[in-house]
Order: sequence, then structure tokens, then C-alpha cells
Amino acid sequence: MSSAGDRRKVTAGAGRRHGGETVKGFVHKVSSPQPSQNDSQEREIQAFLTDEDQLYTYDDLTKVNPVTPTTVLKCLEARYSLKVFYTHAGCTLVALNPFQPIPDLYSQDVMKEYHCSPQPQEFKPHIFIVAEEAYRNVQGQVEPVNQSLVVSGESGAGKTWTSRCLMKYYATVASSSSVVKSQDTVERIERRVLDSNPIMEAFGNACTLRNNNSSRFGKYIQLQLDRCQLLVGASVQTYLLEKTRVACQLANERNFHIFYQMMKGATDEQRKEWKMPRGQHFSWLPNSEKTIEEDCFHETLKAMGHLGINAERQKQIFRILAGILQLGNVNFTSLSDESQPCDLEEQSKDFLQKTAELLCVPAEELQTCLNVRTLKAGKQSVLKPCSQSECSMRKDCLAKVIYAQLFEWLVTFINNSICADKSMWCNFIGVLDVYGFECFQINNLEQLCINYANEKLQQHFVAHYLRAQQDEYVSEGLQWAFVKYQDNQSCLDLIEGIPVSVFSLLNEESRLNRASDAKTFRVRLEKELNNNGNISWDKFSKVPHFTVAHYAGKVCYQIQGMVEKNKDPVPPELINLLQKSDNVLLHQLFTDKETENPTTKGLSKVTVVSKFKNSLESLMKILHSTTPHYTRCIKPNSECKPLTFKMEEVIMQLEACGIVETIRISAAGFPIRILFQSFIQRYGLIGKYSKFKAERSWVDLEADSDILRQEVEKLLSVVLADSSHLPHSEKYNSWVHCGRTKVFLTQSMLDWLEDQRKKVL
Ligand code: ADP
Ligand code: MG
Repeated sequence: MSSAGDRRKVTAGAGRRHGGETVKGFVHKVSSPQPSQNDSQEREIQAFLTDEDQLYTYDDLTKVNPVTPTTVLKCLEARYSLKVFYTHAGCTLVALNPFQPIPDLYSQDVMKEYHCSPQPQEFKPHIFIVAEEAYRNVQGQVEPVNQSLVVSGESGAGKTWTSRCLMKYYATVASSSSVVKSQDTVERIERRVLDSNPIMEAFGNACTLRNNNSSRFGKYIQLQLDRCQLLVGASVQTYLLEKTRVACQLANERNFHIFYQMMKGATDEQRKEWKMPRGQHFSWLPNSEKTIEEDCFHETLKAMGHLGINAERQKQIFRILAGILQLGNVNFTSLSDESQPCDLEEQSKDFLQKTAELLCVPAEELQTCLNVRTLKAGKQSVLKPCSQSECSMRKDCLAKVIYAQLFEWLVTFINNSICADKSMWCNFIGVLDVYGFECFQINNLEQLCINYANEKLQQHFVAHYLRAQQDEYVSEGLQWAFVKYQDNQSCLDLIEGIPVSVFSLLNEESRLNRASDAKTFRVRLEKELNNNGNISWDKFSKVPHFTVAHYAGKVCYQIQGMVEKNKDPVPPELINLLQKSDNVLLHQLFTDKETENPTTKGLSKVTVVSKFKNSLESLMKILHSTTPHYTRCIKPNSECKPLTFKMEEVIMQLEACGIVETIRISAAGFPIRILFQSFIQRYGLIGKYSKFKAERSWVDLEADSDILRQEVEKLLSVVLADSSHLPHSEKYNSWVHCGRTKVFLTQSMLDWLEDQRKKVL
């Protein structure tokens, strides 16, 4: 075990190079922190980089000087090569993915060290510092404040890993098992909360080109704490499961883990029951030969058991999943006579039969649902045979709707099992793990939703941190060179605004119930949204598309299929069929939803974007009501190679999440603000004992702020006159400013004042 001493961070001697800078007064104008690519800056950058051996010492990127993408990157690279994966960037923690297990970095002993230290922030940067800070904040000094840990980054960057670490941290430090009256029920809750992970990952994660264990849904988990700060329960909210994956996987990608886990882990008896003999090929199970560590059926089963999913329920679940796999092998022949429904391919007859048996529905009815459409004309129904491609779409639709409902049911079950009664908890710490910004060769509605979510989160970050910081300078009358930050409101207006936006037009088009034509929709977008600068078109492109300038970069969205995806229609015949299932669970999945609406027209009529927008809005409401902590996960190389740092890839991610801007503003800023009264109370003594002694004996702390301000200025002039031992600050920074009601300080100034105070006490 490493000692606490090992964890103490090495603080870079920031500003060493700027020795000799003296402080002549205490009100300094701040020069523009924006780097200008001139010669002198180039020289500064080079000077900074020459001292290679020191680069790794920068625990906080705000101390890097000058702050440029190059200097920040070099420091991160130096740290990464020495296996230092965490670095502060002001209020944000940057986490670089090592892509290999790091022994002892996350052990229980390490957790306890961070938890038990009076000053964990003095330890080396670590995700546990963020965790501990949130944990201490929850029991705020005046009143408890709920906390949110927002973990972001691109696919494979380490979000889910980080979220798991955070959950394990709280399950350890906020565990009641250390409390003498160790109650069984409470002891089990930590286990259950952790057990929700393997289940949700089995059903919601898959191997993709970017990540072998990629989460195909977003997740916000609230860890519920009681008055004694003990973990007593949790609740999970999920977002936008990528259900299309059940029926369609890109080359070299896979279906959800659970299917492979079944195939690999089933006993002979289960294979028989699931009609899944060894060696059977399933078209919806590509790349089965890839062995990846997530093939752990027994762990999933164990976790299901712990959460209270009993053997009978498990049986029902796996029969449904096995039914989906069989359905994937069902194919229809092309239509020879348009008045007749498509036939099943010869070998598909057996698969259809097995699907029907596993889903517990009549086989003939299943077939008819797939190859015949019922058209309603007034009170009359007309049956119309489906084309081969329509049959295939209906088949995919059946699989998707079953899987999505099953996933939703699982999440509800998990919530029922781990959520504490409202009377038992008073605060929560939320952990948000959502998909990062996506830009593929072909982007459609899924990417639009994901990128929209990222815009929202970015706005939250900007609002919370950058804007709040600058606004306060303004209201306190500080002279301040503004760091330009990208306000993404106009992009959000474009996507979700009222009265017209991409979403509103998409919804309108979806409601019109006409065969949607991508070209017409594209013309409409152009006509209605022309005056928003964030949207553009390549006029010469043959493929209807639109390009959105997101804060993280431009993304071109293909329009073909977008309206249909937004409608996400489920033929009512399919729902009717599933309602008749003798599989108790399957029956329940579709009856509960539809009982209020006997004239089933398919599942919910709410469009995909409306549903997503609503769920995101409630998430944002929760986030706004909490104190946020941001962790930006970075993927150092796209091949997921251990300990490989690719500069170009890292910089793109740092820019996409606004990290360089954040560092600049933090470095140039004054993160510590103390009211004049409190400042005088706390540091007045230093003046008294200073070489230059403050000429004051008594200050009326109730006096108006102008008088207090003069007192503080007097005090500071005395203190700073004696400043030969002050830490040298960054070139762009001074150390202290007086606003209208508060003193603004850098961290190093505060540290120094605290040291001086200790000396005179
Ligand atoms: P994301 O959720 O951002 O898509 P994951 O959290 O699934 O990414 O991480 C991808 C992979 O990277 C993990 O499966 C794991 O192998 C590796 N990884 C991520 N973070 C760490 C870490 N801190 N230490 C070791 N390996 C990690
Ligand atoms: Mg993930």
C-alpha cells in the first residue's frame, strides 16, 4: 500500500521563470490572457518547454504559463508517460485513459486515504478528490446541497469506468458496514447499487469500433444519502437506448453483450430451452468469435439474483431474448404475386416456429403480422400484403420494440430494488455518464439527439462556470479582460427553439402522416431556418443533408430516413400480438402500456425528439439545482492502445470540450472570493504583525462597503509590501483584486495568506 505521503502532489513551481516580478500595489490590471501568436509568445512557449523534466509537475493546468494548446498538451503528455493520469484544470478534472489496469490506483486503501485526509485536495489529482469534495459539499455549511458529477468525453474515453469508480467510492466511504449497528438491509444496499452496473452494461453496452464496452444509452444515477451521509439507496434514469443495434450492427461491431453472454455461458439445459444448440449461427449475432472480457454471463446472473430478479423472471427474460435471436434468422422471399403475402424462405420456417414458441405467441399469427398490413378505412379494415423489404422492416421493428420495452422494464425493476423510501434520505450525489459528441461519416437522428444533449451540457458548463465567474467580475466592478467563450445558445435555438427549429419542423413533418420526402424536408429547413448562422448546406450535394456548426465542430446530418426515425412507428398488429403472449413478462411489457388505449395505434405517439427533449429538460433542471463537478475523460489514442499518447487526437478533444478556454479563464481568474468583513476578520492580524504594521486598531465590520474596502486596501498594501516571500504568480495574473463587496484572490495568494496567518497566531 502506498502511504499518504506518496499521494501528496508535486506542485509545479509555476512562475519560476517569471522571478523578479514584483508587486507594486494591490490593484493590478489584468492583461489579456488570449494568446497571440507573435514572436514573443513563441519564445515564451519555447522557454517553457525547454525545462522538459519539470513539465510533469504541473498538477493543475491553470498554472501552466503561457496557457496554449501546445504547452497544455506537452504537460499532459509528460504526465501520461510517467503514468500520471489525472490533472486538474481549474474546476475541471482531466482524466486520461491509460487503457490498461493500473494496480492500486483505485484500491479501497487509496479510497480511505482520500476520504480520511483533512485536505485531500493536497493529494495528487485523482477522481477520488472530486468524489470526496462532492461528498463533503453535500453537507453544506449552511444547508445541504445536492451534488452532480458530470463525466463527459468521447466514446472509449473512460466515462463509464469513471462512473463505476465513483459509485465504488461512495459504496465504500458512505457505507454503513463500518457503523457498529451494521444492519443487514443497509449493508446489502451498497452491493445492490453496484450490482445494477453489470446488469445495465450487459443489456445496454456493446462492442463497437471505438470501444469494446461501449454504453449505448445515457445514464444519470442519484446516490441517496441519509442524514449521517450514509448511502441508503439510489435511482437511475436512462436516456435514448440505441435499440436499432438489436436488429442491425455495423461491420465489425456487435449486438448487446447479453446475447453473447447467453451464447457463451448457457448450460446444456438452457441451450435446449432456448433452442440454441452449440454452433448455431444467428444473423443478429455477428463477430461472436471475438472474445472480450464482457462475456460474463454468470456475473450478470448473480447480479440479477442480488437485485431480486427471481429464477422464474430470469427464465422469462432469457426466453424473450432467445426469441429475438431466432427472429433475426427469419427471412421472407420476394413477392411473385402482389396479391399474395411474401413467403418464408424454406429454412426460415423452422426459425419462425422457434421464435413463436419462445415468445409464446401463435406461429401463424406471428407470420401474418410480419407479412400482412391492416389498413383501416373508416370502420373497415383492408388487408394488404407487405413487400419483402416491408416484412424485413416489421421484423426489425418487432425485435426493437421488445428489446426497448424489456430494457425499460429492467431499469424500473432496478429502481424499485435500490431506491430508498423518500423518508430515508435527504440528499443525493448524482453521477452523469452520457455519450459524448459524435461525428461520423453518416450521421442521422441519433447523432442529432446525442450532439444536442452535449450542447445542453456544454451550455450548463458555460453558464455555471465561465459565465458565472465573469458576471461576478462585472457586478463587482472589476476591470477584466474577457476571455471569449463560445455561447452556444444560437445552436440550441436552431435545434430545439420555438417557434421554428430543426426539431419543430421534424415533428411537424412526422405528424403530417405523408410519405416523407427528404428533398422537400431539406427545402423546408432551408426556407425556415435560413437566418440562423449555425446551419448550412452544400448546394451541390446530391444527398439531402444539413450541416450544424456545433460548439465542438461541424456535423453533417443526412436527412434520408430522419422523419421516419422520429416517428418510430410500431405497427399495431405487432402490439396486439405481443399482448396475447403467454410469456407473463412479455405480456406485461405490452399490456401495461396500452390498457388505457384499447384502440392501439402502436406504442406512444410522442416523437423521438420530443421524448428526448423532455427527458433532457428534466435532467437539466436537476443539474441546475445541484453543485456540479466536471470530469473530462480523454482518449489518448483511437486504437485504445495502452499508454499511447497522440497529440493530435488529444488536442481535438480538449478543444471539443472547451478545456483550453476553461484553463485560460481559470488561470487568469481569481477563484477565491472573500467578503470584506470576513477578510478583515481572518487576515487583519497579519497586518498587525507585519514589518510595516497596519495603522488600525478597530474596524466596524458593519460599516458600509466603501469603508470596508478602504480598510482591506490598507491591509493589503501593508501585507504586500512585505511580500518578498510571496509565491510568484503567472505572468498574466496578479494575485488580488478588490471588488465592491469582496476580495478576489488566486489560490496561491490564499495559500500564502494562510501561511502568514499561521505564523502570527
Ligand atoms: P466510455 O464510457 O467513455 O465510452 P469506458 O469507460 O467504457 O469508455 O472506457 C473504455 C475502456 O477504457 C474500458 O473498458 C477500460 O478498458 C479502459 N479504461 C477507461 N478508464 C480506465 C482507467 N482509469 N484505468 C484503466 N482502464 C481504463
Ligand atoms: Mg460508456
